[in-house]
Amino acid sequence: MNNVKDKVVVITGASSGIGEETVSLLSENGAKLVLGARRLDRLEKIQQKIGHNVSIKKTDVTQPDEVNALIETAYNDFGRVDVLINNAGLMPQSFLEKNKQDEWNQMIDVNIKGVLYGIGAVLPYMRKQKSGHIINLASVAGHVVFPGSAVYSGTKYAVRAITEGLRQEEAAVGSNIRTTILSPGAIDTELTDHISDKEMKQGIDEVYKDAIKPDAIARAINYAINEPEESSVNEFIIRPSSQNL
Ligand code: NDP
Repeated sequence: MNNVKDKVVVITGASSGIGEETVSLLSENGAKLVLGARRLDRLEKIQQKIGHNVSIKKTDVTQPDEVNALIETAYNDFGRVDVLINNAGLMPQSFLEKNKQDEWNQMIDVNIKGVLYGIGAVLPYMRKQKSGHIINLASVAGHVVFPGSAVYSGTKYAVRAITEGLRQEEAAVGSNIRTTILSPGAIDTELTDHISDKEMKQGIDEVYKDAIKPDAIARAINYAINEPEESSVNEFIIRPSSQNL
């Protein structure tokens, strides 16, 4: 069974880490891809590597117009959107006492509002098609809080709440739109590079010593998409086997 082949998949934050790995696996399985991120040079390299059935669009998910334009790119180039993966996110964790307001705002803008803009942009099209799938990246930090994770956890708890609300609303109207919450544990990507709080970074680096490769997350995304349309895989938590948090 290959239910991934020919599906049109839009993914934000496609320029590195989990996004890039997911693009690679889905394209191997025959999906048509539309990649968004701010670093266009990275997207161009990925596009060249894949070679066909892939469009790119410079997208900052904090800008609703740019998110709308990303979805429109999928319609213009491939005629529909079967899957939206709201993957863009950042994790500059710090202790609240440090009062890092710019980083709080960034996390809220990208991790929460970016996801909402994605949902808002794609829902009218999916409702009209009477089919679709929205996959949102949460985190283990969207299930547990620890010192230093308050704001990041807040954003990821919000992603879970929003996705569950979306699931209920779409099920109620029978729109045939599937939802998936994916909560990774420590995955080896660029995510921890942006932690400016030195004490926090040391602690996180310790947890990330056992980080696993992003292909573990790509396979889960592929599984959720590949399931038959009547089956909605609503939630995954994927940790390194040795992670106790
Ligand atoms: P990376 O840092 O490797 O990737 C993050 C991606 O988000 C980049 O492609 C970046 O692209 C994009 N991004 C950041 N800000 C914006 C923005 N304003 N607009 C558009 N894109 C943006 O980390 P991961 O691959 O690990 O992260 C992917 C998701 O997985 C995130 O939501 C993260 O919270 C979640 N996650 C990751 C875990 C991990 O351990 N790695 C654990 C739990 C959750 P660019 O800079 O080019 O815009």
